Amino acid sequence: VQIKVSMSTCSISAGADALYKYFKEENYINDLDFLISPVGCMGLCHSEPTIEVITPGRKGVILTNVDLEKGEKILKEIIHEKEILEDIGPDSKQMKIALKNCGFIDSENINEVIANDGYFALGKVVTSMTPDQVIDEVKLSGLRGRGGGGYPTGLKWKNTQSSEATQKYVVCNADEGDPGAFMDRSILEGDPHSIIEAMTICGYAIGASKGIVYIRAEYPLAIEKLKKAITDARSNGVLGENIFGRDFSFDIDIKYGAGAFVCGEETALIHSMEGKRGEPTIKPPYPSVEGYWGKPTNVNNVETLANIPAIINNGGGWFREIGTEKSPGTKVFALAGKVRNVGLIEVPMGTTLEEVIFDIGGGIKGNKQFKAVQTGGPSGGCLTQEDLKTKIEFETLIEKGSMMGSGGMIVMDEDDCMVAVSKFYLGFSLDESCGRCTPCRIGTKRLHEILTRITNGQGTKEDIPLMKDLSNTIKRSALCGLGKTAPNPVLSTIEKFPDEYKKHVVDKK
Ligand code: SF4
Repeated sequence: VQIKVSMSTCSISAGADALYKYFKEENYINDLDFLISPVGCMGLCHSEPTIEVITPGRKGVILTNVDLEKGEKILKEIIHEKEILEDIGPDSKQMKIALKNCGFIDSENINEVIANDGYFALGKVVTSMTPDQVIDEVKLSGLRGRGGGGYPTGLKWKNTQSSEATQKYVVCNADEGDPGAFMDRSILEGDPHSIIEAMTICGYAIGASKGIVYIRAEYPLAIEKLKKAITDARSNGVLGENIFGRDFSFDIDIKYGAGAFVCGEETALIHSMEGKRGEPTIKPPYPSVEGYWGKPTNVNNVETLANIPAIINNGGGWFREIGTEKSPGTKVFALAGKVRNVGLIEVPMGTTLEEVIFDIGGGIKGNKQFKAVQTGGPSGGCLTQEDLKTKIEFETLIEKGSMMGSGGMIVMDEDDCMVAVSKFYLGFSLDESCGRCTPCRIGTKRLHEILTRITNGQGTKEDIPLMKDLSNTIKRSALCGLGKTAPNPVLSTIEKFPDEYKKHVVDKK
């Protein structure tokens, strides 16, 4: 018998650590010889703590909302060999590639990792593929950066490979900062070895011997899991000197971010890693040519890297068949807000917003009406009832006035005021502006003042065109993506909910 207990940050905050301890103690006291495994997020954040029970001859059954009382009852049922009924069945609309091991394996047990194909792709790469073949496979897959930009990953690797230098770097961007987003944290807590493996494969492909994970310091559990995984990988010969006995060495360090949203932008991230102020600079030069300490540096986010082992194992052609033509593969979302089933999901690109919110998400809490969904976090825009049939892919979401972003998806219901929503997101960008350029530093401040005036009932009709004008000026002239996209929530709510703005403003005439 195996009992897997989801022990991610969200599960622990719901009491999973006490439950895990209970199972461990009962297992020991009663000499049960069960395997009690701490695993990562199963994605069911709405019903934590969650467990999976695997009994001989049966597939695992998932049980939710397992408090200590329910845990005790389940344990008795297992001991008395009673049939345990599943609370939640498999979700056929989801497909897990980046999350395939999250909630499934105990990442602290490297034997379990290896038994589930861990480091198989790395072995294949270093023993039977040339760096060019690896890059060709990633290019063939059509994988695009999951941090929000959607830049083709294979091309990025090729650019860094083509830059001549004695030292190159692979950087994993784990500086997840969107409000409501927890995809990268969950992957690092549940399956850190997939990131180590992917970074090492990238190092082999581009000719780098050093990797750095830049992770925000507010992710203590992810850091702990990552450190343990790095240590285990080194002691098992899949990281460090002469990997798989070959003439290839690669090692990984961790650097901590202090929680500045702008450090998710790759040039700001690199400055922060060098101990400088986390401010973006104009590109070019691109990090692939001049990055960390002036050396060619390949920066990919966590979810992008999490796809790499599966691409190598199954082939780029396999990956390209999933999703849509322009956006192959799957996308992980942190589904939050007024939706019933808040959680971590992964769907093939091309899945509609309606399927995500109503089929997977279970619809709106309290039988309220759906009003809007914000994708792309503070850089994105809101999508409404009319947009529910929109397919999730990079270009389509932009056409509809929002963007993919890194995967935060916040659902709003009929009670939410869209003017207040836009003020919230703008306030976030204002706080996170690094202050380097005037349009962003001053422009977002002035825009926020107007929104504050409006939400306090002191705005006038003239404020709406003024906000549009100012928003467009900021978008045109800000230096980096943070400033260029900061007005998006304001513009999209003005366009899609003009009546809500009109209700807030006073007609002076
Ligand atoms: Fe800094 Fe904002 Fe300018 Fe970006 S746009 S460089 S965050 S001030």
